[in-house]
Amino acid sequence: MAGYLAVSVILGLIIGSFLNVCIFRIPRNYSIISPGSSCTACKTPIQPWDNIPIISYIILAGKCRQCGEKISLIYPAVELLNGLLYACVYLTYGPGWHLPLLFLFVSAMIVITFIDLEFQIIPDVITLPCIVLGLVAAQFYVADPFSAHSVLGFLNSLIGCLSGGVIFWLIVILSRGGMGGGDVKMMAMVGAFTGWKGVFLTTLIGSVAGSLIGIGLMVFTGAGRKTKVPFGPFLALGSLITIFLGNLIFNWFFPYPIG
Ligand SMILES: [Zn+2]
Repeated sequence: MAGYLAVSVILGLIIGSFLNVCIFRIPRNYSIISPGSSCTACKTPIQPWDNIPIISYIILAGKCRQCGEKISLIYPAVELLNGLLYACVYLTYGPGWHLPLLFLFVSAMIVITFIDLEFQIIPDVITLPCIVLGLVAAQFYVADPFSAHSVLGFLNSLIGCLSGGVIFWLIVILSRGGMGGGDVKMMAMVGAFTGWKGVFLTTLIGSVAGSLIGIGLMVFTGAGRKTKVPFGPFLALGSLITIFLGNLIFNWFFPYPIG
């Protein structure tokens, strides 16, 4: 148990390092495969021993070995976050073939969050393949967040995917630019992985969190009503809470069994 947990965390840290590559390159349309990582300031290729998650950042004191340029704190933060989320996945769902799929899901949410924060886009190259994967895998492996030890099932996944897509497509039309097509595809993806209950809970948590932060920004930074706040990170937060605590929260809202 402790061994598997440690492996999950280490895997999470290593893949977290790759997520940083994705976050930087996907919105800039660079290949995520080659060339290898290099310093964004001096372009010197980063040697493998300087590319160890978290540890290298600490040894280098957050500076490039060649040019001394500061390395963004976001890099180790993404690695740490991914490691912690993999631990949460393992602790919530236990060992099994659902692990690679749920690892992929939480990592996709991290990448979406940081790209949406910086570029206000949610790339199709992440959401579209994940929608297909979620739909196909639902019949076999993906654990149902509302019943951690059973498969989600294709029908629930399909209903989740369609409801997430349609609800957010309507919101896009009604909000007139407040939200984009990326959010629609992201919610179709969340639905494919978590079913209709997941769409419901993710939307609820995302909206509450988004409203609170929005009000907070207005009060503390003087941001106006028109200030553009990307919604993807709130939906990502909602979907992660759903993945880990969905059953608990849903049963609290609806003490009587439905669906
Ligand atoms: Zn450098």
